Amino acid sequence: MKKDNIRILKYNKNNIFIGKNCLKQISKKIVNKRTIPLNIIIIDSKVYTVHRNYILQCFKKFKKKMIIYNSLEKNKSFHGFEKLANRIFLEQPDRNTRLIFIGGGVLGDLGGLISSTMLRGLKMILIPTTLLSQVDSSIGGKNGINNRFGKNLIGTFYNPQNIFVDTRFLKSLNKREIKSGYAEIFKHSLIKNKKFYQWLENNHEKILQIKEPFISKAIFESIKIKISIVKNDEKEDKNIKNSRALLNFGHTIGHALETKNKYKNDLKHGEAISIGMSCASKISFLLKYLDKNKVLKIENHLNKIGLLKKINKNTLNGLIKYIKQDKKNKNNLIKFILLKDIGSAFISKYYTTRKVENFLSKISL
Ligand code: NAD
Repeated sequence: MKKDNIRILKYNKNNIFIGKNCLKQISKKIVNKRTIPLNIIIIDSKVYTVHRNYILQCFKKFKKKMIIYNSLEKNKSFHGFEKLANRIFLEQPDRNTRLIFIGGGVLGDLGGLISSTMLRGLKMILIPTTLLSQVDSSIGGKNGINNRFGKNLIGTFYNPQNIFVDTRFLKSLNKREIKSGYAEIFKHSLIKNKKFYQWLENNHEKILQIKEPFISKAIFESIKIKISIVKNDEKEDKNIKNSRALLNFGHTIGHALETKNKYKNDLKHGEAISIGMSCASKISFLLKYLDKNKVLKIENHLNKIGLLKKINKNTLNGLIKYIKQDKKNKNNLIKFILLKDIGSAFISKYYTTRKVENFLSKISL
């Protein structure tokens, strides 16, 4: 860690700055800020309402135009893309313009797609402001919009020049959003790093209260794990041991629950994947890969955080229809990410629908 308390990670030769108030350093950390003729800063409207003064102070040395944007999931669409892109065109960008997005995963996903396509690609900086976007969606270069066939089906791989993960923004997020983002941090520990899992066991309360240095360390370790995986399989097209698919631990069942629930707010992403992680741990136990006591440890941790919502056994049994729709399946066969141990995930072989139905019927809730 540097003496200004900013941790730095690199992905694709670009820097990720992590720490409380790290955005204050943007003027110092970013090269060529004066040679960029124009920065267009697009800010989530809720973030702007609360953090306006801080943001204006951080960007006071930049030549800039600002756009305030209401980033709802329903705007992550062709229509939302067109509307925001047109708004940006009104500021007359040219190929040297840099786009800077400040907001959660919705704005980051839409912004990534706009940056990669507008004028055939503009430089982009991401400033994620939710815990989920700080540890997950801003990292790894994926972006996307939804259409009537499903979520994130249209998108590109496009990396920002820099990412500023400023924990100061998290103070204005509600507890449920924090917990939902924490589920991804916990997932990273389960798939790759037992020591980190143990540290989360000891420090989760301080992390959820956004206490430093715990929150910054949790984010740093979590991003480190995500980078260590995506750098081997940037475009998610490799069938290797350390492939990007590992990041889907808990997501096969989690996504199916979200789809069945029509992405309504009563089941947040982190809550859905927490149920998914608990189920995947139980399947790992059923297949004799994981000890029972480890399944219980995982479940206890999620319960302590309040992430394991009770679901009806029938919900689980009726889930196969939605699991089959997962874009990661092949020839109607279903793949799971399972655990050999806490901190060690692997990609299962493909299972038939019948076999998966059988797993689901055996999972006790
Ligand atoms: P979000 O962007 O909708 O933000 C959640 C809510 O918090 C919004 O109402 C937003 O206005 C508000 N908000 C944002 N920052 C705030 C702050 N600091 N203080 C107060 N309120 C704030 O949701 P999200 O959970 O950040 O992201 C979800 C999206 O991320 C989904 O669309 C999902 O598909 C996508 N995603 C993408 C990837 C990827 O790899 N590209 C990975 C995971 C998720």
